[in-house]
Amino acid sequence: MKVDTLIVGFGIAGFNYAEQLRSQKKSFIVMAPDEESASHLAAGIVNPTVLKRFNPVWKAAAFLEYALPFYSNLGEQIQTQVMNLLPIYRIFNSIQEKNDWGVAASRISLEKYLNKQLISEDQFPEVRAPFAFGEVIQSARVDTKKLLSHYIQKIIPNQFLSEKFDHKTMTHGEWIGYKDIQARQIVFCEGYHGIENPYFNYLPLIGSKGQILIIKCDQLTEEVIFKGPIFLSPMGYKTFWVGATFEREDKTTRVSEEGKAWLLNKLKQFLKLPFEVIEHKAQIRATVVDRRPLLGRHPQHQNVYLLNGVGTRGVLMSPLLSKWLFQFIENNIKLPLEADIKRFEKQYFRN
Ligand SMILES: Cc1cc2nc3c(=O)[nH]c(=O)nc-3n(C[C@H](O)[C@H](O)[C@H](O)COP(=O)(O)OP(=O)(O)OC[C@H]3O[C@@H](n4cnc5c(N)ncnc54)[C@H](O)[C@@H]3O)c2cc1C
Repeated sequence: MKVDTLIVGFGIAGFNYAEQLRSQKKSFIVMAPDEESASHLAAGIVNPTVLKRFNPVWKAAAFLEYALPFYSNLGEQIQTQVMNLLPIYRIFNSIQEKNDWGVAASRISLEKYLNKQLISEDQFPEVRAPFAFGEVIQSARVDTKKLLSHYIQKIIPNQFLSEKFDHKTMTHGEWIGYKDIQARQIVFCEGYHGIENPYFNYLPLIGSKGQILIIKCDQLTEEVIFKGPIFLSPMGYKTFWVGATFEREDKTTRVSEEGKAWLLNKLKQFLKLPFEVIEHKAQIRATVVDRRPLLGRHPQHQNVYLLNGVGTRGVLMSPLLSKWLFQFIENNIKLPLEADIKRFEKQYFRN
């Protein structure tokens, strides 16, 4: 079978690259095992701001202006709503933070995203917020689990191979060969598993584990994502996503009692309502030393490409990153230097 592109991995990055190819009427095959990825476990929050320090995300406006219409149009095309526009309510910890928010919300780079008008605790008596809430506008939640499974079942059922890619079996020359597949190029979108990819294992993918809880809470509003010491985000049917831990040492997807206790402790600091824990899970984020994505062409193999390192912002960034990569491959349009893996080329040739 001959195709333009073989995509390896089907988290939010692989999905977005597939959709880029589909919309450009290019032929492709996606290969990924039938297992839960970081994208499946993610809250799916699209947030253009860094809520610890009240800063915009790198290239926030460009990513957001591309991502919101992208997910909304896609939902219409596949006749399933995959995105909900939901405000994030940041709980202030002190008067100082409240004042800092006011200053940040007046900055040109943030005024579109941070509402200057603060929200009083009285509006949500079920949540403890003595110093009020700051509202992030133009934020959303994408139901990544629903999106990924729906896309495979309804849009690409004949282009999806449910198996793990074995790098040793791949041949490269003018065409990429893999079993009976011949592809003009291959794009690896393996998330944290990218550390096992012999073509790109020189890159500084560090990975950070996140444990989460899913809780049921009958009386809590489903109209808002709350951000206290952790996120509390509605998932429908009165269930809520609670997370996440940020662990740098342990690179397994095992959950721990310490992780659960930590999450419950943080949650109880602001949620006043009773709830029931229904799930406890963990996955690894594909984080990078310099906190920028990993995009581009292998230093020596012309038709071997990478789309990875989306860190904590894959849902926001992957649509535009996929477009950039597509334009780079097809039209030779340069990638932004900060995202291009060329920045690590010295490490490759040193090995
Ligand atoms: C707890 C937690 C919460 C998060 N919350 C958010 C959030 O709210 N918003 C947000 O934007 N991001 C969030 N993230 C970050 C999220 O991980 C990234 O944004 C993004 O989903 C990563 O997507 P990815 O496709 O790069 O990787 P992954 O989702 O890890 O997908 C990798 C894919 O590659 C496949 N694969 C790997 N190796 C092979 C192989 N050899 N052969 C075939 N297939 C292979 C895997 O099976 C999988 O399908 C969260 C992460 C965690 C852990």
